[in-house]
Amino acid sequence: MDPYLDPRKAIIRCCRWLCRHGYFGSLRSAGGNVSVRIPDEPLLVITPSGRPYMDLVPEDICVVDFDLRPVAGGLKPSIETGMHAGIYQDRPDVGAVVHTHQPFASIFALINQSIPALFDEVVMAIGHTVDVVPYAFSGTPELVGKVRQTIVNGCFCFILQNHGALNLGASLDQAWKNAELLEKTAQAYYHALATGRPITTLPAETLQRIGPPS
Ligand SMILES: [Zn+2]
Repeated sequence: MDPYLDPRKAIIRCCRWLCRHGYFGSLRSAGGNVSVRIPDEPLLVITPSGRPYMDLVPEDICVVDFDLRPVAGGLKPSIETGMHAGIYQDRPDVGAVVHTHQPFASIFALINQSIPALFDEVVMAIGHTVDVVPYAFSGTPELVGKVRQTIVNGCFCFILQNHGALNLGASLDQAWKNAELLEKTAQAYYHALATGRPITTLPAETLQRIGPPS
């Protein structure tokens, strides 16, 4: 009996949905990665490197410890595994990480612009801002360091400059839902900016009432 079967299957289900909805760039690519924390253990379950997501089977999904040592699975884990492990170490409130190359959030990765508080139901889920993590090459310790510096704001979504998006959640369902909320917000904000008209953000008293994301 595989003790990691449930999170492995959940990751595949999430990846297939993200793939079909364009969050990874294309059906045949693997532009992103998804992981889940194993509760009460310094372990994470994560997608392998360079495998088309539509073809994955549970035993392809890797299990590693926070020092990136393999625990289960024969494939090479995602090159961004260090980023996922760093997030779990710094944010005990995070149980899953969904890194995507989702289209509208990627626009803000190119114009290097954070997304402010625009919709109350989004702010309740992901926090008051979607900040930009400054650029560093994929899979490098430099990128891990920049991510760890930015996630201290306690929010659940981030833009990776010239790269893509990072969606966190207490569970995989929440991180997945946050990816959708970020894309909806980025899409609306992009189109609003394109009108050239002033954009209203949520009033300060609303942000106070909402408080930190839950
Ligand atoms: Zn990426």
